[in-house]
Amino acid sequence: MRHQLTLHTMLERARRFFPDKEIVSRTGAGIFRYTYADYYDRTRRLAAALERLGVRRGDRVGTLAWNHHRHLEAYFAVPCMGASLHTVNLRLPPEHLAYVINHAGDRVLLVDADLVPLVEAVRPQLKTVEHYIIMADVSLPETRLSPVHGYEELLASAQEDYRFPEDVDEWAEAGICFSSATTGMPKGVCYAHRAIYLHSMMVCMADTVGVGERDVVMPVVPMFHVNAWGLPFAAVWMGAKQVLPGPRPDPHTLCRLIQDEKVTLAAGVPTVWMGVLQAVEQERYDLSSITRIACGGAAPPRALIEAYELKLGVPFLHAYGMTEGAPVTHVGRLKSTLEGAPTDQRYAKKAKQGLLAPGLDMKVVDAEGNEVPWDGRSMGEMALRGPWIADAYYDDGRTAETFRDGWYYTGDVVTVDPDGYMQIVDRVKDLVKSGGEWISSVDLENAIMAHPKVAEAAVVAVYHPKWQERPLACVVPKPGVELTGEEIKEFLKGRVADWWIPDDVVFIPEVPKTSVGKFDKKVLRTQYWNHLAQ
Ligand code: ADP
Repeated sequence: MRHQLTLHTMLERARRFFPDKEIVSRTGAGIFRYTYADYYDRTRRLAAALERLGVRRGDRVGTLAWNHHRHLEAYFAVPCMGASLHTVNLRLPPEHLAYVINHAGDRVLLVDADLVPLVEAVRPQLKTVEHYIIMADVSLPETRLSPVHGYEELLASAQEDYRFPEDVDEWAEAGICFSSATTGMPKGVCYAHRAIYLHSMMVCMADTVGVGERDVVMPVVPMFHVNAWGLPFAAVWMGAKQVLPGPRPDPHTLCRLIQDEKVTLAAGVPTVWMGVLQAVEQERYDLSSITRIACGGAAPPRALIEAYELKLGVPFLHAYGMTEGAPVTHVGRLKSTLEGAPTDQRYAKKAKQGLLAPGLDMKVVDAEGNEVPWDGRSMGEMALRGPWIADAYYDDGRTAETFRDGWYYTGDVVTVDPDGYMQIVDRVKDLVKSGGEWISSVDLENAIMAHPKVAEAAVVAVYHPKWQERPLACVVPKPGVELTGEEIKEFLKGRVADWWIPDDVVFIPEVPKTSVGKFDKKVLRTQYWNHLAQ
């Protein structure tokens, strides 16, 4: 049967089978709860309201919002009416914010009340936005944005019996996200209905994240960053209870939500889980409802995984992906055949980025484009293809560098072991190419961060007259400690190959971070490029 894989069928399932299941949303005003029946009704009203404002099929609607029920309504209302949802990353610097909204051509922007100043600041640069809708709990804030509408007022007056179109094509664009670029402006990645549908199906598989109806799903990963790893789509489809942690949730708020709402699956980047771990050390929380936390976006240190599993008894699922991969492409579940392995080996596996998701293809190639063996040692750039992997950037000249011969080149240098577990060695652009040999900046950083006096460390390649590039360590000491470069170098002896030891160590107050909280090493690379040249 030729059948269209569209988001509308996912939404209808929640309405028909799970009308009484709950969605819990932390907003500025407190905790709001309603059911999937109410959710469906409001989602339909939002689509009707957008249509009345002139949104048509193929148009893009932007959101600047935290994780809450109104954002979740937009997640389905916009694609199901045949338009495309652009979740704008609210941490972008102003010139990038204006660029992504203009480049996507958003006709309507849905904005959280507390984020209105971000939009006001770039308002003169915005060329395509015709309406601003403010998602406020109470009265609308004073604003220079115009024309402006209140979300609740629009929904209250919207047509109740709006019907979503039945004939949206599975290849139609359901959403667009932007990925940060090493240089230049962010790059747009479009997702077809079909891609989101198949990606959602994959995250529901028992051998990946295994999202199911019995779960209580809490995406801590922002809904403005690669669709909160696709969890909102999967959770609606399965009719899982959802807990949306709202604006700027701190670790104690997250612990209370887990405890009170009996969360079974929570997902976030390593810094979130480091914060929660500290909160649990300070105060007693009952986290026993959790059956696994999912962690990805950056590498969780092995010590973090061990702390959750061995100290707290909370299973830890390491996942990997990227904007171009919708995003989940690998999940680090332990194979049954490895369950009996010694603890050390099991945690070495869990710290790797994991097994390729069913449905995708992967290859690892060296600088000449030849595939490297899966021996756990040979390094190469990983390329991916599959039904939810992008094949281009939206209207962007940089497409040809990244998408070649039907493959997406990830820019991640990896090894794959004989069991099939992929491990990131470094990003291609962050590798230190020293005299024709590669040094992993990530391995060096991890080795340095194991030093008890180090808070953070970033290693970057700097110019060297003889070796072309050499590693430089940029270290943030813990507050109040005395630390010298010699101590760091001494510490590394025996932990990494001698020729990997950084030529110099500089001390910095903090490592610069990108809009999504990752180390922004290009800033350090530019600043220190000639550090060893003199
Ligand atoms: P950007 O950080 O460029 O805005 P993404 O959020 O799409 O874009 O980041 C994708 C990248 O994040 C991957 O290519 C990889 O380098 C890194 N990454 C994602 N998950 C992990 C993980 N579990 N371990 C290490 N690195 C990861």
